[in-house]
Amino acid sequence: MADILYFVVPCYNEEEVLPETSKRLLEKLHELIGRGDVSDKSRILFVDDGSKDKTWQIISDLHAKDSHFSGVKESRNRGHQNALLAGLFTAAKYADVTISMDADLQDDIGAVDKMIEEYKKGFDVVYGVRSARKTDTFFKRATAEGFYKIMKAMGVDIVFNHADYRLMSRRAVEGLLQFKEVNLFLRGMVPMVGYPSSKVYYERAERFAGESKYPLKKMLAFAFEGITSFSTKPLKFINVFALLFLLLGFAATVATGVLYGLGFVGSWTILLSAMAFFTGVILLAVGIVGAYVGKNYLESKHRPSFIIEQVINDGEEK
Ligand code: UDP
Ligand code: MG
Repeated sequence: MADILYFVVPCYNEEEVLPETSKRLLEKLHELIGRGDVSDKSRILFVDDGSKDKTWQIISDLHAKDSHFSGVKESRNRGHQNALLAGLFTAAKYADVTISMDADLQDDIGAVDKMIEEYKKGFDVVYGVRSARKTDTFFKRATAEGFYKIMKAMGVDIVFNHADYRLMSRRAVEGLLQFKEVNLFLRGMVPMVGYPSSKVYYERAERFAGESKYPLKKMLAFAFEGITSFSTKPLKFINVFALLFLLLGFAATVATGVLYGLGFVGSWTILLSAMAFFTGVILLAVGIVGAYVGKNYLESKHRPSFIIEQVINDGEEK
C-alpha cells in the first residue's frame, strides 16, 4: 500500500490565490496517485487561519466537489506558524507523510516529486531550500539572508534559505508535536526533532496574486521571535561587558590612584575609574541572574529531552 500524503497549506485571506493553488495541487496529487507514489487517500489540507474573506467558503466548496480537498478552520487568526502546526496536528491523525507549503504558489510545486523521492530513500525530513532569490527585492534578500546569518551566530541550528516548505514523515511530525512551547519558530524546531534529513532545491517564485501577509513589521517581529525563542546567547553577552568593565575599571583605578599620588591628576579621576569598576560588578551580578533566567526559560519550554529513533534489545519489557 502506498503511503498517504497530506499537503498542509496555511491560508490567511487567500481567496485570490486558492482557486489556482487548489487546481495545481490537485493536478500534482493526481499525478502522484496515478504513478502509485502515494495512496488515493492522500489529501490537500487547507488551514484557514481565521480569514476575513471567502477563504473558508472556497475550501468548503472544494471539499464538496472533490474529497481530495479537506480543511481545518481555526477559531481566529493566530499567525502562520500556529496555523501550520494546527494543520500538521490534524494531518498526523491520517497521514504517513506531510508536505507543508505556502498558499501563494511561491513554493514551487515541481519540487514535490524530488521530496517524495528523498522520502522513499528513507529521509524523514526533506527541507525545501531556495536556490535563487531572483524575484525578491534587494532589500528582502539582504534582510532575509542577514537573518539566517545572525541566527547561526546565535547558535540556532537552522537550514540556510529554508522557510517552511518541507516534507515530514509521520514520526517526525509526532516528534514535533512533543514540543510544548507556544512561541513557535518551526524552522528552528524541526532540526531539533532530528531523524535523517535531506534537502531539495527550488526557485522561489513571486506571489501568484494578492499581497504579502508578512509586512516588514511582522518580519522583524518574527526574526526577534526566532532569536529569543531559541537562544540564551543575548543573556551571556552581559558577562562579556561585565568582564570588560571589571578589568578596565580595575586597571584604571590602580593607574589613576598612582597618578593622583604623584600629583598628576585630580582625585575625581579615581572616582571615575572606580565607577567603571563598580559598573562591572553590577553587570556581573546581572549576568549571574541572567544565567538562572536562561535556565528557567529553557525549563519552562518543556521540550522533550530526547526522541528515540530505534531500540535494539532482545530483553523482555516489564
Ligand atoms: N499566513 C497565515 N496566517 C497569517 C499570515 C500568513 O496562515 O497570519 C499564511 C499565508 O496565507 C501564506 C503563508 O502564511 O500561505 C505565507 O504568507 P505570505 O505569503 O503572505 O508571506 P511572504 O511569502 O510574503 O513572506
Ligand atoms: Mg508568500
